[in-house]
Amino acid sequence: MLPCTAPPGPSPWQSRVTRITAIRAEAPGVWTFDLVFREPCPDTGFEPGQFNMLYLPGIGEAALSISSDPARPTPISHTFRAVGNVTHALARLTIGDEVLVRGPFGTPWPLDALRGRDVVVAAGGVGLASLRAAICGLAAARHDYGSIAILHGAKAPADLLYEADYGTWRDAGLNVFTIVDAADARWPGSVGLVPDLFAELDIDPTGTSLLCCGPERMMEAVVARAAATGISSGDIWLSLERNMACAAGVCGLCQFGPTFVCKDGPVFRHDRIAAFLAVPHL
Ligand SMILES: Cc1cc2nc3c(=O)[nH]c(=O)nc-3n(C[C@H](O)[C@H](O)[C@H](O)COP(=O)(O)OP(=O)(O)OC[C@H]3O[C@@H](n4cnc5c(N)ncnc54)[C@H](O)[C@@H]3O)c2cc1C
Repeated sequence: MLPCTAPPGPSPWQSRVTRITAIRAEAPGVWTFDLVFREPCPDTGFEPGQFNMLYLPGIGEAALSISSDPARPTPISHTFRAVGNVTHALARLTIGDEVLVRGPFGTPWPLDALRGRDVVVAAGGVGLASLRAAICGLAAARHDYGSIAILHGAKAPADLLYEADYGTWRDAGLNVFTIVDAADARWPGSVGLVPDLFAELDIDPTGTSLLCCGPERMMEAVVARAAATGISSGDIWLSLERNMACAAGVCGLCQFGPTFVCKDGPVFRHDRIAAFLAVPHL
């Protein structure tokens, strides 16, 4: 058993033991875990958009965004799609099992800088996990912002995430729009891709900021659509994914142009990285 020895401000190398207190099936192959630190730790806070490294001894570590409300530092939630070694092993765990956690890491969504502006939140698939914490923050300070629109797309209706939250978000004055690549017989909503949802919005381009997370091709298409409406590159923020090992800016695995995604990102302002996004396979 590892002792909780983290000083205020967790060490990037110190994994802390957490216990799973709840598991929610969000969509086929996608789960949310609520995790509680086994030992009381002085610093469990995080900012929306930050991520933790979840470690299963003997299996490995995976970077996962913190999807819970930053106003409630514990339990912390992580939503993951089972795609590989660590995430498939996580999917086999049950309530009461332990998971080691390092973090939080990375740059947050710039919610303070967006005060007074309209905000469009665009998420593809599990990309909504990173943005959920930002949505909680926007909803909590609703009157500090102009209009807030959440655009969420998924492959199929069953893949939409956090549907139980949409009522709360709408009650807080946020507009929630969903779209799926392929409908089923019971889907009454929009069919298409996330950029198509911009047609639902009345955008003031100079007063609007965009937060976007999802597969990179989806983000490219959303950025192109936002640019076509006149939103400038400096008002667009993206969260990038790259394979990571240390998560602390040392190993270089997540190097992206002159930056490391783990410490200079994952949230980047688009004009800082546009030139590198244009380089295939970077
Ligand atoms: C900052 C950051 C935040 C992240 N947040 C989340 C999050 O909140 N939730 C989440 O589910 N993932 C998130 N990821 C992605 C996650 O870290 C990777 O999916 C990770 O590789 C999973 O580890 P693994 O050991 O299970 O997979 P590995 O054994 O490393 O295998 C990954 C394999 O799955 C493929 N793969 C990776 N992602 C996907 C995908 N989305 N769909 C299909 N195939 C895929 C890869 O190409 C590779 O072949 C995040 C990544 C970063 C960098």
